[in-house]
Amino acid sequence: MLNADQNDILFERARAVIPGGVNSPVRAFKAVGGTPRFIRRAEGAYFWDANDKRYIDYIGSWGPMILGHGHPAVVEAVQKAVLEGFSYGAPTEREIELAEAILALVPSMEMVRLVSSGTEAAMSALRLARGATGRKHIIKFEGCYHGHADALLVKAGSGLATFGHPTSAGVPPEVTQHTLVLEYNNIAQLEEAFALHGNDIACLMIEAIAGNMNFVRATPAFAARCRELCTQHGALLVFDEVMTGFRVGLHGAQGVLGITPDLTVLGKVIGGGMPLAAFGGPRAIMEQLAPLGPVYQAGTLSGNPVATACGLATLKEIAKPGFYEALGKKTRSLVDGLKAAAAAEGLPFNADSEGGMFGFFLMKELPQNYATVMTTDNAKFNALFHGLLDRGVYIAPALYEAGFVSAAHGDDDIAATIDAARQVFRTLPSP
Ligand SMILES: *Cc1c(COP(=O)(O)O)cnc(C)c1O
Repeated sequence: MLNADQNDILFERARAVIPGGVNSPVRAFKAVGGTPRFIRRAEGAYFWDANDKRYIDYIGSWGPMILGHGHPAVVEAVQKAVLEGFSYGAPTEREIELAEAILALVPSMEMVRLVSSGTEAAMSALRLARGATGRKHIIKFEGCYHGHADALLVKAGSGLATFGHPTSAGVPPEVTQHTLVLEYNNIAQLEEAFALHGNDIACLMIEAIAGNMNFVRATPAFAARCRELCTQHGALLVFDEVMTGFRVGLHGAQGVLGITPDLTVLGKVIGGGMPLAAFGGPRAIMEQLAPLGPVYQAGTLSGNPVATACGLATLKEIAKPGFYEALGKKTRSLVDGLKAAAAAEGLPFNADSEGGMFGFFLMKELPQNYATVMTTDNAKFNALFHGLLDRGVYIAPALYEAGFVSAAHGDDDIAATIDAARQVFRTLPSP
């Protein structure tokens, strides 16, 4: 058939052999409806779907593609690495180089261990925190995502400062019974949790600029209180910077907020699009890891030579002077343009950004926590999503996801996006 939609055809084939047709749930468009776009190729700020339709890409593989797709220096580094072998299962000089590059940019880290996914890094940081402190309890916040390790797939129980309930089948309640789930930016609740359980808390894990409930900043006072209470009670403060690391700035959310965590979890940008993640912190804590210490952690493909080549080449580009100033300015111009276009249509709207990460909300005030983000008008968001998609602008297919701008996005791409949004805003039902 000449005019058959190739995405529909691929989706049907995919669903026959892959659960839901996707290898990570949010790709399935379940929240927004419709057929996921199957991507054939990408270049710079764009990718093309199976119908050869072009989109301006604002997900950038959910964060990693900060240089845009196919940056020549990164492609060259990867091509060179591939010719030298895919994986050895023995140490390489490139792992040292990447470790040194990461530590030079994130001063709170004295040592780092490389792994293959953010999930693995967060899970390992958690085990390390428990091993290093000899404590069981952990604190996480509603709306923060730290990968899909069992103990972190939790939602708040009823009442204040209670232990969480599993959010996934297959996670026994016993596995989440040590995870306290608190409201983001709620200082009183945080203080209550430490007052009740302070001496048993191994760590507090947080996205200090949250990117998994759209885009929500920890207030400076809240972030500072997290640091103080952890220090006071001997708990480790863990910044999950899988999304924010090398994305909101060269020194991550910890640089933006001016707060030094004990452990840092990295991913996404540090692999430049290849499977690579890391966790690290002070030497005395990191030396608790095997083979030096009693906390076990390992990986067949950890520090993979091709992935580390990709990550190193990426870090080299983003460390160039002025990189984040330019990226931040461009992202800010997108956010300001969207706000102005929405205001002109009398649409309740707000937006925020830091570095190359942004979020927008179909509401007047910037939300401070997950519950408020989730009051977004779903139907309106979905209409906006599909309106933009039709016009060749690809934003995250769910209202609780952040957006990403890359160095490859040009001013003309930003202008075209704002123009597309203006057209869609006009079609949205007024409040
Ligand atoms: C993406 C993400 C993870 C999980 O990383 P994966 O590589 O998808 O396993 C963990 N934490 C945060 C903050 C993330 O954004």
